[in-house]
Amino acid sequence: MLIDSFDRKIEYLRISVTKQCNFRCQYCMPDTPENFLDKDSLIPLDKMFEFVKVAIDEGIKKIRITGGEPLLREDLSSFIASIRSYAPSIELALTTNGYFLKKYAKSLKESGLDRLNISLDSLKPSRVVVISKRDVLPQILEGIDEAQRVGFPIKLNMVPLKGINDDEIIPMLEYASQRNMTLRYIEFMENHHANSKLRGLNEAEILQIISQKYKILEIPKQTLGPSKSFKLAENNAIFGIIAPHNDDFCKSCNRIRLTSEGTICPCLYYQEAVDAKEGILEGDLAKMRESIRLSVKNKPEKNQWDLDQNEHSARAFYYTGG
Ligand code: SAM
Ligand code: SF4
Repeated sequence: MLIDSFDRKIEYLRISVTKQCNFRCQYCMPDTPENFLDKDSLIPLDKMFEFVKVAIDEGIKKIRITGGEPLLREDLSSFIASIRSYAPSIELALTTNGYFLKKYAKSLKESGLDRLNISLDSLKPSRVVVISKRDVLPQILEGIDEAQRVGFPIKLNMVPLKGINDDEIIPMLEYASQRNMTLRYIEFMENHHANSKLRGLNEAEILQIISQKYKILEIPKQTLGPSKSFKLAENNAIFGIIAPHNDDFCKSCNRIRLTSEGTICPCLYYQEAVDAKEGILEGDLAKMRESIRLSVKNKPEKNQWDLDQNEHSARAFYYTGG
């Protein structure tokens, strides 16, 4: 069992399988060049699987695969199938921009993946171009359709941005609930790599907009993790808000993150991390175990959001996987 210095049980591992992405979202990597990735720096997935086995043996019970865009990584379905066959009862999820789901949803389902989070910030094609810098809404919507057809439960992730998509807070909620998906609003998290002109909406502002049309009921928290859940009194539609700007955000944090280059990050907004690359590449189980334990031991009580503007925001979301 993995317990950190503040008595939090760490059961959730997020794995970023690549930093590369086919989109260039304004809040994530708008100015990153197309060919920035050094492919040799990526940990091969068979080596990563050995790390995952150690993590599961140490007490990890939930794994989310993310990126960059994880579906750019070849053989992802086999990687997922290997994890599933090693740990039949583990919770296995994937976060994706949806672009490749039309092609891969079926094989992901067959590999044993449980659920999908799909990022969707707007239902207007021209807005999606503004936000992601790509003309991709039709492909994302087709990907969502295919993922539903093969039977995935889906959460949609939306980052509400002032003057960009804040007038779609209600239409997105209605779109999701009409299709039996749960929408989660994620507060924009300021970081070095994002467009510095962006301004996000916070939890209170999001709730205020929804309450102009619907009566909102808060659902008491049942699981650990950063999302708060709400229900609309009129039709029982459920939605979530991830509000990292709130003071109590870190109290229930149960996660660590592995990057595609073999670094374990105990927190999104905390620079110190454990370099586990050598142990992973050598297949040294004892070294991997030590790295996991060390990163849990070093997990800070709170993120360092407010300490130093340059320091706290230096690590990219497409590196840690958000
Ligand atoms: N490419 C995949 C995707 O977009 O779903 C997975 C990686 S992406 C880094 C994971 C999540 O982080 C997405 O839902 C994205 O909206 C969110 N994200 C990225 N940068 C963010 C930021 N600055 N603030 C809030 N959420 C952010
Ligand atoms: Fe790519 Fe996801 Fe970042 Fe958008 S949020 S640029 S889709 S990694």
